[in-house]
Amino acid sequence: MAWEFAEHRDISVAAVSQLDSTRRSQLDTLWKWARTGHEKRLTESVILLEQPLEVEYLDWATWPAVSGDHSCSAADMLSTLLESEWVMNVARIAEQFKHRVREAKSRAQRVNAMHTLDVQLLRADALLVSRAVSNSGHFLLARPSIHTDEHTYFKECVAQGVEMNAYAVYTWYHQRALQKAAMLRQSGVSREERNKLALSMLADEAYGLHFLQDMFAAGHTTGSWGDPSVRKGTHDYYNEEGYETFTWSGKPLVLLGDAFIREQDVQVAAHVVAASLSQILDVYSGQVPLHTSRLPLGTSPDTLSTCSNDVVPVELINDGTLEYCQTILTETPVPALSYGLGDMPRFRTEVGGFIGVSPYSVLAGWNDALESAGTSAMGAGSIGINIRAGLGLDGIMSEGDDGLAFFEIGTSYDSRSTASYREKESGALPTESLVQVPARTAISTRLRMPFYAIPGDVLLAGLLVAPWSQETFTELAIAASTGGLFGWQSGIATSIGRFQFMLGREVGVQFLGFVEGDEMAFSTTNDPASTVTVRLRTILIDAPIVEWRLFRSFSQDQHSSMAVQLCGTADIPVLLAHEVLPADQVLLQPRWGLAIRALFDWRYYY
Ligand SMILES: [Zn+2]
Repeated sequence: MAWEFAEHRDISVAAVSQLDSTRRSQLDTLWKWARTGHEKRLTESVILLEQPLEVEYLDWATWPAVSGDHSCSAADMLSTLLESEWVMNVARIAEQFKHRVREAKSRAQRVNAMHTLDVQLLRADALLVSRAVSNSGHFLLARPSIHTDEHTYFKECVAQGVEMNAYAVYTWYHQRALQKAAMLRQSGVSREERNKLALSMLADEAYGLHFLQDMFAAGHTTGSWGDPSVRKGTHDYYNEEGYETFTWSGKPLVLLGDAFIREQDVQVAAHVVAASLSQILDVYSGQVPLHTSRLPLGTSPDTLSTCSNDVVPVELINDGTLEYCQTILTETPVPALSYGLGDMPRFRTEVGGFIGVSPYSVLAGWNDALESAGTSAMGAGSIGINIRAGLGLDGIMSEGDDGLAFFEIGTSYDSRSTASYREKESGALPTESLVQVPARTAISTRLRMPFYAIPGDVLLAGLLVAPWSQETFTELAIAASTGGLFGWQSGIATSIGRFQFMLGREVGVQFLGFVEGDEMAFSTTNDPASTVTVRLRTILIDAPIVEWRLFRSFSQDQHSSMAVQLCGTADIPVLLAHEVLPADQVLLQPRWGLAIRALFDWRYYY
């Protein structure tokens, strides 16, 4: 995608507002015809300057926003607009997002608003993800060299077999709209045909305008190449940080992108959109003659799919209409150079496989000793280091997501528990009782993965669902990464870091006392002189409940972050070999506790 729904709409509203009064009244007439029979869905006026929060009717400015991102062709867009219920939800969600962004005072609030938008849109529009599979039409092709002039570049973009791009889609649909405008002028068109033509002409133009508007989004002009991680990272970086360029006609510009639009960006894009609309209106009014050999076309909106065509499927018609398209594209930004000297720096996002290291320390408080021989609550500390391998899907939709999956293995060292022996009032305690949990070493393992409804379900679905339906699995995995069934597990950005409720996403299992030669001599009473040797094996399980990520930094291929987790933990004894007592005489039982785990996380993405 490029601009968010509301941003597309704002550009279109501004464009219509920029039209002079003659053209505006022509557009109003066309809208009146097009609206005939669809009064229940379409607004009376061609645009609403201020969209109400509770959207009930859709204006024409909504059309370019529904195009491309929520539909695959002009025909698809029009039927979605006029017939579907969900499109009304999408329009409402978009309007609420606009208000939230307007009120956002910090980057964190904006990030949260973007995350909410993504989650809501995924729920409102079931096909959002599958539609975006082939999305190169929303991007500009990179410029091959500094010597490429606009004519050469334009020709290369619209040639048959070239990777689908925004120039080609815009040109395709704008040509259709121009031809339909010319058809509207022909004599002998019945009123019914006229209304249908006006409707499909406005739909074709709106569909093309989505892609014309996309050309003004920074992340879409800096060139899109490389693996998905680089494409996404570069796109996100320039959308937020901006990209300096010129229009082909030489006007300087700083572009921003999706979710970061400023009023001046709206106006710059609107100016070109208004020029495109004016061409249609001028052909319709006869101000400008159209030399085309392709009439008539039929009265339905065009069906060229921008979701399934990876390349420009047919040669664009080389007639008078092509020149009109080129005039418009002269006022669009010059895209960045393609791979080589002078290209814009590329950025990655955390998508892909990684290896890493994670040192950590834990402070745990326990309800009791392993053996309830009259000890009080106790604490213990441990330090450890794990190596890890996994798959990052961080920020696949926005920064609130968490698609991180990894497996860790390492070692840890537990300090002796702090509690000391406290004699029971009865005094009937066996002297060999195990009072303190001694210092121990452990083999530590850890597993993390997102889940949809119950922990581990994504893994299960990967085995059982993915082989049959890749699409269902993808939807499930994305829903899991964006916060699960109820959205509880979304990250919340704040000025002091990112918080996430994450119970069920991660589990640590430590095997204590499983390594040969770790027999321990320790005191069974307060008297240090009386020691016995025991072998004690326990399995310690911890599950983080809340995570606070203090900082995160990511460069080309390396991630480092620090986090603090609050974990629930259980220590389950599995073996006690005692040199004095037979094992069955000392009754061991699990102990429960809470732990604070501070970790450093370093990853290298390969
Ligand atoms: Zn787009």
